[in-house]
Amino acid sequence: MKVLKFGGTSVGSVESLRNVKDIVESINGPAVVIVSALGGLTDQLIATARAAAANDPSYMDSMQSIRSRHLAIIDNVVPEIARQEVTDKVSGLLSDLERMYSGVYLIRHLPQMTLDIIVSFGERMSSVIVAAMIDGGSRHDSLGFIKTEKWYDKNIADQKLTTELIRQEFSRPFKYAVVPGFISTDINTGDITNLGRGGSDFTAALVAAALDAEVLEIWTDVDGFLSADPRIVSDAVLVPHMTFIESMELCSYGAKVIYPPTIYPVFHKNIPIRILNTFNPAAPGTLITDSQCDGDLKVKGISAIRDTSLFHIDGNISGKLKNTVSRTFNALAKKGVKVFNVSRNDARPGMSFAVAKGDADVTYDLLCREFAPELSKGTVSRPERIDNVATIAVVGENMRDNSRLGARIRHTLSRDGIRVEGYSEGASDTTMAYVVDADRLDNALRHIHTLVF
Ligand code: ADP
Ligand code: ASP
Ligand code: MG
Repeated sequence: MKVLKFGGTSVGSVESLRNVKDIVESINGPAVVIVSALGGLTDQLIATARAAAANDPSYMDSMQSIRSRHLAIIDNVVPEIARQEVTDKVSGLLSDLERMYSGVYLIRHLPQMTLDIIVSFGERMSSVIVAAMIDGGSRHDSLGFIKTEKWYDKNIADQKLTTELIRQEFSRPFKYAVVPGFISTDINTGDITNLGRGGSDFTAALVAAALDAEVLEIWTDVDGFLSADPRIVSDAVLVPHMTFIESMELCSYGAKVIYPPTIYPVFHKNIPIRILNTFNPAAPGTLITDSQCDGDLKVKGISAIRDTSLFHIDGNISGKLKNTVSRTFNALAKKGVKVFNVSRNDARPGMSFAVAKGDADVTYDLLCREFAPELSKGTVSRPERIDNVATIAVVGENMRDNSRLGARIRHTLSRDGIRVEGYSEGASDTTMAYVVDADRLDNALRHIHTLVF
């Protein structure tokens, strides 16, 4: 059995929805089809909620455009026999959404829980439309079987319970099961939650792993995984094959193609992933499997996290204090702060690492708290923090053996006047990382791409 996921661009317009219908109906079922909200809708749902909370009456115009977009799509893609029923269902959801917005407008307040309910409407509506549009389609509501639990201030999937519930849900025969991506409910409170922006990919992976699917197909708007973000590097090339580890590295370093947590459940079950283009279904796409293939490119791609902050702990700490590294990482892990790379700069002894800009304040606080005794005695200096940097990853299996490439990358960057604030070569088997000024990121990516591909 196949699991397919169609992203926002694939379900964004009448034309793209017709492609989705053709792609699904050509499968000799059964298949599970995960859908995102209509393209751009999640951003609009959030912006409208913020406008309402700011007491800006223009939220009503935005609500009106959400309504007309959905109703127009229904008129154009849902077969006449089902059209009234689908219009009624979606109109009911639109009325609930409108009531949520007017509540937010009146109380001028937008708690996270309310925003989570508001964003859920996107996938709840798109899945009703797609299920009715596909011949043999039935809708299965992920609010009933994708479960999250609170972890600090994040909602994370409870994979064990979710797996059991998915198996129960799909134990009865179906042809094309259509499932809203992204949305979930809390195991304790039953409140509506979600798997994070881009999370429909993860819904698809959880379903694929629970049902031991033969393949997970991610249908999007590009021909496959490219060697770099095509919006920045215009001559990025298609990568026909890569490993799970390589895709995981590229995506956790910012390649938007797949939402990073997606890869773990399918990797664990060794279920291949295919990245395919809804607008060019005949293209072979990218295949992601557990091991290298003959003819694989040595370097699979470059990606970047734009908003990062670089921290440096001086040589004093790492020289005099035992367990500095483990104390730092343990402190950060307890608050769920993800560290991108441990980088080195020949001119600076000590330890550097990068975190997402959004985690920078909490990182600084945690470091100060962790090393409070040493700081008060003056045996260490305050951690240094550089904001407005970006972290670039150059990814391929066996990167560790490719040290000459590292030197050439640094040479290329410095020749073009791009300062490398820190780098990491050889710390990971698959990834070399470079920290550069955020304003120079696009140039740096183009230079590295020209050098490597
Ligand atoms: P979807 O709505 O289908 O989930 P996304 O916008 O999340 O689509 O992801 C697909 C987009 O990712 C592409 O349109 C492309 O612009 C961007 N992208 C960034 N890096 C890469 C890459 N290395 N290869 C392919 N696409 C990339
Ligand atoms: N609609 C959600 C988002 O835009 C989830 C997804 O598309 O994967 O983030
Ligand atoms: Mg996506």
